[in-house]
Amino acid sequence: MKVIMLGAPGAGKGTQAKMIAERYGVPHVSTGDMFRANIKNGTALGTEAKKYMDAGELVPDELTVRILLDRVAKDDCKNGYVLDGFPRTIPQAKVLDEALDKIGEQVDYAVDVDVPDENIIKRMSGRRACLSCGATYHIEHVPPKTADVCDQCGSALVLRDDDKPETVKNRLNVYHEQTQPLIAYYTEKGILRTVDGTLPMEEVFNAITAILG
Ligand code: AMP
Repeated sequence: MKVIMLGAPGAGKGTQAKMIAERYGVPHVSTGDMFRANIKNGTALGTEAKKYMDAGELVPDELTVRILLDRVAKDDCKNGYVLDGFPRTIPQAKVLDEALDKIGEQVDYAVDVDVPDENIIKRMSGRRACLSCGATYHIEHVPPKTADVCDQCGSALVLRDDDKPETVKNRLNVYHEQTQPLIAYYTEKGILRTVDGTLPMEEVFNAITAILG
């Protein structure tokens, strides 16, 4: 099963992608997580990606495509995967389709988690992330047991630079300009499915499992 999660930053696609990965036993592949791991490890790729991420811009396609194709070529992706945050541009989608085409495969579904911009801005300012283990929280909806401390590893939680309000507004603009055209792209291919991302997390997940079977 190969599934792509679409949706604005903060629409909840990461949370849903993790739940899908667990339910269907496929890896959760997040380009954002991979970039953050590179930043944490101080790699050249991480240093380059951080410049764009902190400004709410997209990392250039050539860097992103390389990291993604390397990841999905790994053994654990043989039976499929759920992509979270990739593709974000039409060229990225085309590269993925071409790579899959070469091995006689294709994406099964692109699931759009639909949430209006106003809700997104409200949600993102409440997000908190653990930079050590990657766990994410929300001060209202998914609070940690102790304020500002990660349940999983005990590290301090932070508001990621890219979740700050001014960056979020820029990320939404970038989303509308560069990523939203993917809705038409996957609609044309007949594999787009839309779920209402304003519903409670469990209901969104039920809608998704009804689609994926
Ligand atoms: P995310 O965790 O998916 O919200 O990604 C965080 C940031 O990483 C984004 O705002 C981009 O700067 C960068 N990023 C992640 N995935 C991609 C992608 N597919 N293309 C370009 N930039 C990306």
